[in-house]
Amino acid sequence: MAARIVILGGGFAGMATARRLERILRPEEATITVVSRENFSLFTPMLPEVGSGNLETRHVVTPIRAELRRATFVLGDVRGIDLAAKTVTVEHPIAGSHQTLGYDHLVFALGSVTSTFGLPGIAERAFPYKTLEDADRLRNHVIATLETAAVTADPTERKRLLTFVFVGGGFTGVEAAGEMADFFRSTLRYYRSIDPKEIDVVLVEGGNKLLPELQAGMGEYSAKALARRGIDVRLESMVAGADERGLQLKSGVTIETKTIVWSAGVRPSPVVAPIAAIATGRGGSIAVNADLSVPNQPGLWALGDCASIPMPDGTTAPATAQHAIREGPVLAGNIAATLRGRATAPFRYRAIGMMASLGARRGVAGLFGKYLITGFPAWLIWRTYYLLRLPGRDRQLRVAIDWTLGLVFPRDIAELRVYSSAAEAHALREAGMLRDAGGDQ
Ligand SMILES: Cc1cc2nc3c(=O)[nH]c(=O)nc-3n(C[C@H](O)[C@H](O)[C@H](O)COP(=O)(O)OP(=O)(O)OC[C@H]3O[C@@H](n4cnc5c(N)ncnc54)[C@H](O)[C@@H]3O)c2cc1C
Repeated sequence: MAARIVILGGGFAGMATARRLERILRPEEATITVVSRENFSLFTPMLPEVGSGNLETRHVVTPIRAELRRATFVLGDVRGIDLAAKTVTVEHPIAGSHQTLGYDHLVFALGSVTSTFGLPGIAERAFPYKTLEDADRLRNHVIATLETAAVTADPTERKRLLTFVFVGGGFTGVEAAGEMADFFRSTLRYYRSIDPKEIDVVLVEGGNKLLPELQAGMGEYSAKALARRGIDVRLESMVAGADERGLQLKSGVTIETKTIVWSAGVRPSPVVAPIAAIATGRGGSIAVNADLSVPNQPGLWALGDCASIPMPDGTTAPATAQHAIREGPVLAGNIAATLRGRATAPFRYRAIGMMASLGARRGVAGLFGKYLITGFPAWLIWRTYYLLRLPGRDRQLRVAIDWTLGLVFPRDIAELRVYSSAAEAHALREAGMLRDAGGDQ
């Protein structure tokens, strides 16, 4: 009988695993099922450009159904896992119905969620930067803030409105702050009552350098490049919390602002943490063997951001897309080897290089742990590499067109009031669909 392989998560790691399994396993050997709560995969390296309006929202996502050849896709939120019965319960995010899936091999590829470290006020007041909705919501908020500042005379309130704080000096914070500075440079011409000098983009990092997870030199270059463009980079600034005035630092300083973008930390998927038998890694992640199998749990595997993967040099694999897409094929090969009674292989990838885009056609790339490429060439390498990595030829073409248009035209400042019940009610009223608006009754 064909083995049942169920992959939880349709992101970088899950899809890389599914695509390789489709290629190497014959249909009579195994059925493959991918479970994910959205019907698309999000290409996160391009998310900051969605937040700054340089890329169209739908161009950075790929429909999962279109990416799979013979695997089955189940749209579902994972609600429960019964390791003894070997079943997974999922809830349909739209219909609300439940489904139970049996498995012989279960792959955890559920990624991570934002961590606020329990700091007071952050969860309530800060914008996360992880999902498509986050990026879209932030873009609309920033435009709404400019619109408000344009009619605000009170200097204190104006200052608060025009200060935009990004917390976290990793990939997300650095790229998002750089992109936002680009957005202002491109759009402030439309807000004649706002002097560009009034805008403050602040990047707050607790450690003593940016991009701490990347090669030495990359963080130092990024800090200088961002500062040259007027971004206020504050290192060694630990956050204490947030309130209605803004962001409080442990030093006692308060940065007065209406916009705090939080990308200071992630933690493994909360689905994993409560399962004590597997959540044995750092922060409740799944500590796996070198071949990505879960220790003492035959048939369980984990990879990507929700796993702690040992590397040959004694470190754990970084939580990056670059690693996740390499882990997938290794894990797929190991499931195939197990089904065929062969030995599994360890995950041994060593990244040739890492890159970050800094906006304003500048980037930074570290190669082989010692060479540094900076400025325009690094930015060009970043764009070429990620464009080629974006799944789907149509998506690649759409992004290439967006980028080309972005070189010529300013960014869009149309503010779309989505994602709130007030906005929905307003839209219905405008359409004459609500009784109090005298609509069709
Ligand atoms: C803004 C941003 C920029 C980044 N830039 C870079 C970069 O330039 N380079 C780089 O290498 N890395 C980058 N990263 C990191 C990279 O995105 C992650 O390391 C990568 O996504 C990890 O892959 P994954 O498959 O483990 O998780 P994900 O890609 O997050 O996939 C997890 C999947 O599981 C699904 N899921 C989660 N919970 C459930 C549930 N309960 N039920 C069903 N489905 C569920 C999710 O919907 C998602 O599809 C960036 C991250 C962010 C947020």
